[in-house]
Amino acid sequence: MKDKLLYEGKAKQVFTVADDPNLLVLSYKNDATAFNGEKKAEFQGKGRYNNLISAKVFEYLHQKGINSHFKEALNETEQLVEKTTIIPLEVVVRNVAAGSIVRRTGIEEKTIFNPPLVELFYKKDELGDPLINDEHALLLTDVTEADLVKIKKMALQVNEQLQAFFKEINLQLVDFKLEFGRNASGEIVLSDEVSPDTCRLWDIGTGEKMDKDVFREDLGDLVTVYDNILSRLEAKQ
Ligand code: 5GP
Repeated sequence: MKDKLLYEGKAKQVFTVADDPNLLVLSYKNDATAFNGEKKAEFQGKGRYNNLISAKVFEYLHQKGINSHFKEALNETEQLVEKTTIIPLEVVVRNVAAGSIVRRTGIEEKTIFNPPLVELFYKKDELGDPLINDEHALLLTDVTEADLVKIKKMALQVNEQLQAFFKEINLQLVDFKLEFGRNASGEIVLSDEVSPDTCRLWDIGTGEKMDKDVFREDLGDLVTVYDNILSRLEAKQ
């Protein structure tokens, strides 16, 4: 199935598929990075957790009518996806103030955003993924105004569904980052991954952080936390 290594990112390797140019294999790595790659570590099992958690999220979204590039989990660390050309935007949805918005604006941590806030960042490591507005997105990427409307609408739909999904396992969805890509027909679809690497998740009972902030802020053992999330998801079914 998996053929040539096409690209290696911070968290995943991307492989071509031997007999189908419209498919890719994503292989989740055990590496964790933060602060634009300045902080790095390797965690045995992290790739497996993100692969399996992300697969469950995409399967749930499919059931709810939200399509993504996801086809199927192939094994513990790899998934088969539709090939897309990634639009270099990071679309962040926030339900509660945390992370960069607190640093950038002085809004108090834990402030509730109702309606949720959508922010765009330009996906460019060399620039540290700067916050941009719609006009910048039109200038810097190939999206149209209609594409931006569609992307934001999809991001808010994903938020609605994922808030319910995580609430069922006693986790509050604080914020998350999505990426979108264009498939062979030019359609914009949800791409990349949705995992505790890309979401902030707080335990509803204790307020404990159960996501990559554990690594970013040295709060404890990342693998134990990711294992706990996967166990809760498995117990839910
Ligand atoms: P913030 O802007 O507060 O740093 O991040 C907002 C949300 O988006 C968090 O859930 C964070 O995990 C996610 N996020 C933002 N940028 C990135 C990124 O470059 N990589 C990953 N894995 N997640 C990101």
